Amino acid sequence: MSNDTPSQRARRWLARFEQALSSADITAAQSLFVPDCYWRDLVAFTWNIKTQEGREAVTHMLAWQVPNVKPSNFKLSGEASEADGIVDAWFDFETAAARGLGHVRLRAGDDGDDQAWTLLTTMVELKGFEERKGERRDKGAEHGAHPGRTSWLERRREEEAALGHTEQPYTLIIGGGQGGIMLAARLRRLGVPTIVVERNERPGDSWRKRYKSLCLHDPVWYDHLPYLPFPDDWPVFSPKDKIADWLEAYTRIMEINYWGSTTAKKAVFDESRGEWAVTVERGGKEIVLRPKQLVFALGVSGYANVPKIPGAETFLGEQHHSSRHPGPEAYKGRKAVVLGSNNSAHDICAALWENGADVTMVQRSSTHIATSDSLMELALSGLYSEQAVKNGIDHHKADLIFASVPYRIMHNFHIPVYEQMKKRDADLYGRLEKAGFLLDFGDDGSGLFMKYLRRGSGYYIDVGASELVANGSIRLKSGVNVERINPKSVTLSDGTELEADLLVYATGYGSMNQFLADLVSPEVADRVGKVWGLGSDTTKDPGPWEGELRNMWKPTRQPQLWIHGGNLHQSRHYSQFLSLQLKARYEGLPTPVYGQAEVHHRR
Ligand SMILES: Cc1cc2nc3c(=O)[nH]c(=O)nc-3n(C[C@H](O)[C@H](O)[C@H](O)COP(=O)(O)OP(=O)(O)OC[C@H]3O[C@@H](n4cnc5c(N)ncnc54)[C@H](O)[C@@H]3O)c2cc1C
Repeated sequence: MSNDTPSQRARRWLARFEQALSSADITAAQSLFVPDCYWRDLVAFTWNIKTQEGREAVTHMLAWQVPNVKPSNFKLSGEASEADGIVDAWFDFETAAARGLGHVRLRAGDDGDDQAWTLLTTMVELKGFEERKGERRDKGAEHGAHPGRTSWLERRREEEAALGHTEQPYTLIIGGGQGGIMLAARLRRLGVPTIVVERNERPGDSWRKRYKSLCLHDPVWYDHLPYLPFPDDWPVFSPKDKIADWLEAYTRIMEINYWGSTTAKKAVFDESRGEWAVTVERGGKEIVLRPKQLVFALGVSGYANVPKIPGAETFLGEQHHSSRHPGPEAYKGRKAVVLGSNNSAHDICAALWENGADVTMVQRSSTHIATSDSLMELALSGLYSEQAVKNGIDHHKADLIFASVPYRIMHNFHIPVYEQMKKRDADLYGRLEKAGFLLDFGDDGSGLFMKYLRRGSGYYIDVGASELVANGSIRLKSGVNVERINPKSVTLSDGTELEADLLVYATGYGSMNQFLADLVSPEVADRVGKVWGLGSDTTKDPGPWEGELRNMWKPTRQPQLWIHGGNLHQSRHYSQFLSLQLKARYEGLPTPVYGQAEVHHRR
């Protein structure tokens, strides 16, 4: 065994795996996994997004799914590699319905034979329903003489005139931010008739309408949209109006049926017809759309949390949630109190300070700070950077490598990164604490991304505001809350009174199923349950353990209702799997869902 190359070892494991699966020998398949194994499946085996943890779970899934899935044709892709006793290999495979791409990490079991520690299987395309790309692309021109021929533009206009009026979309996406746009682009390529409704006028407006200094926090290598990567001179951190224009151009290039200035008002599931009736308001008129599938793409950070504070109605100044903050220009020389200490609070405080406002941040509980430079160097550069691209890791590969790490053990990979960050930025952290700022690195020290997955909040990617907090330019009141709002001030829980002309509630966002409560019904929202979070039993992410993000990109407990979103990386990557699930249903393929998650929390 020891003389075999990593590729030989990987090939042998794949051959044994295929043999066990094709003969439905579940015992043999089970013996190919270490006891503490993880098999993460993105739609290919389960028609779900699901991680099997441990041999028993793997066996259970295989026993149910293999007869239908009929996996075959496992082939090593490229060369495998080995580091620290782990063989790392990519492979292609097929099922009865689809072609897939997988990744496996092997380690020697007790008997010396290789066993899988982590396995990732992903669906790439449905057989017979492939995207019309490459050699399958449309010709575009019709050479020859064709009386009455129509042009591309005429056909496009006809489609726009018919869809939603004389023809119903199969899928309706509510929310035309980056998430809705990316999913619609994939569905377009798959030939699934789709409309996106967006209450803003133009694609990209959710970025355009934010304060003028905003740039993306994530670097360009993390942000590409499907099919059309940014040009290689695109700035590392995209200014918000630039990304907005890109989204708008992308929507046109991808021929997305995008209804701007259209607000979804009500959605009702008609069980007898197996379709939704969605009332939308467009141009002052109500239209009822009747899609089979309804996707909510309203933003992980879309449902504003505004605390009810006594006296709010007496305030004579301006008060608004951070998502409605118009920018700092109107507040020069004014006194601003910003309630909250995460991303939005920091960005808004810094912009107000830059514009000559007198700003106080009210920090209620501890916050994780990660400087953008350290995040880029320590956390992201291996997968998403110019160097990674030079090393052959483009964003497609990076997304898959990232997806190959099971959530159950992901924090173990992150903790050492944040240990390093603590040392690297010790000076800043020390000065922040001296200024009274309450710092944390997550309940288990695993830092920013785990906080994002678990609770979607609790951090600031420092692009400059922390220095202003540390040096006192942004005043800080920590460990307190706003207890009462007065006509020209706020009273804090320690009795301090702060004068205020402006009060910004940077108090975060609620679970996305609150949108369901508003647009569908509280009953459906409760049936679907809390959205996002892993069940890690850490702050704001109550157990039990779920193993995947709740309700995201996979079947929910409400038939024909889906939830999509996340940051640019997640929307890019997971729109692939959501679009394939929708396409399969559009084509009437059997999609038996394995292991649908229980609902444990309503909000
Ligand atoms: C300072 C800052 C920096 C950030 N940096 C990054 C970054 O670098 N990378 C990143 O990925 N994210 C970043 N984010 C987060 C970013 O805002 C979200 O990732 C992004 O908005 C999610 O996109 P989405 O399409 O899922 O949701 P949204 O952009 O929230 O889109 C939802 C859309 O739904 C529309 N809508 C709501 N209700 C209705 C209705 N009833 N009918 C019709 N339409 C409706 C809204 O108008 C909105 O356009 C940052 C946020 C901030 C504040």
